[in-house]
Amino acid sequence: MTHPGWLLVGVTVLVTPAAAWAQTATDSLAVHWNEGAADCKINPPPPLETHAIGGMTYILRESLCATYEAPFMYLLIGSARAMLIDDGDVADPAKVPLAQTVLRLLPGTGSSRLPLLVVHTHRHLDHRAGDGQFASLPNVEVVGYDTGSVRRFYHFTDWPNGVAQIELGGRTVDVIPTPGHNETHVSFYDRNTTLFFSGDFMMPGRLLIDDADAERASAKRVAAFVRDRPVRAVLGGHIELDTAGATFSWGSHYHPGEHALAMTKADLLALPAAAESFNGFYTRSGPFLMINSIRVLIAEAIALFVVLVALIVAVVFLVRRRRAARGISATGVRLPPPTV
Ligand SMILES: [Zn+2]
Ligand SMILES: [Zn+2]
Repeated sequence: MTHPGWLLVGVTVLVTPAAAWAQTATDSLAVHWNEGAADCKINPPPPLETHAIGGMTYILRESLCATYEAPFMYLLIGSARAMLIDDGDVADPAKVPLAQTVLRLLPGTGSSRLPLLVVHTHRHLDHRAGDGQFASLPNVEVVGYDTGSVRRFYHFTDWPNGVAQIELGGRTVDVIPTPGHNETHVSFYDRNTTLFFSGDFMMPGRLLIDDADAERASAKRVAAFVRDRPVRAVLGGHIELDTAGATFSWGSHYHPGEHALAMTKADLLALPAAAESFNGFYTRSGPFLMINSIRVLIAEAIALFVVLVALIVAVVFLVRRRRAARGISATGVRLPPPTV
């Protein structure tokens, strides 16, 4: 996902079930993903799942036992080149053979294999840890994940405004800046399949927001973009909710009854109003769970500090009362009995 898990340990206790996300009726997207395991040492699932969803498009997911982040990655194949959106949370190919799996899905072999472009929705490690598996491969280009690289590669001249395009050969993908969760975030819209790839900008899980103003602007930008376009489904970076809309505990390797991956155009269109209602700390608005984890952590730390100070004051008060009752001064000297 995004921020270190310890930041959100306290946040999870605040979460309550809410209405589930709108579901799509598209059968080929209704994949039942492996739910991980309560004990991953016993019969761990395969480290990587791959599903073809038509239109030369694949969804890949690292298993919950390989990484609790269990990120989704998307492979779009055109006639001139293919594009992988995100490359996961696991660097070691011995644990998750991502590059090998992706190359096998590409048309052609050896030097005639279709060129591959590896892009990222944003710079968080769980979306780019696999870069090293692709870095030295022939006919593979890995796009940088820092803001400067993102702007340069897509030729954004007025970031975060504007929409860029990537041509894959008979397949055009629009690139829409979506900072807020992270300043480098972009989303992708595939004109052929009308799928919208939203990364951590929108997903069935905790929407961690670093910059609320940027998030609100991105939500409006995306809503304006999709308003007059068809959207088969919105596919994000993770699933952190169950079918009732409750969050799985942070860092869990076990997601029984996991929510569907696919969200809808209606969800995207509802995001601007939800983002407007975000109080800067923690807000649940319909299916959206919006959190500024840094601020929540600071608030929790302050609350903990106040409780500790109150406890210390209470203990000192009680000790003094007991000493006074037993006739002992603060320095340990037994006081003479009071004279009447
Ligand atoms: Zn993520
Ligand atoms: Zn993230």
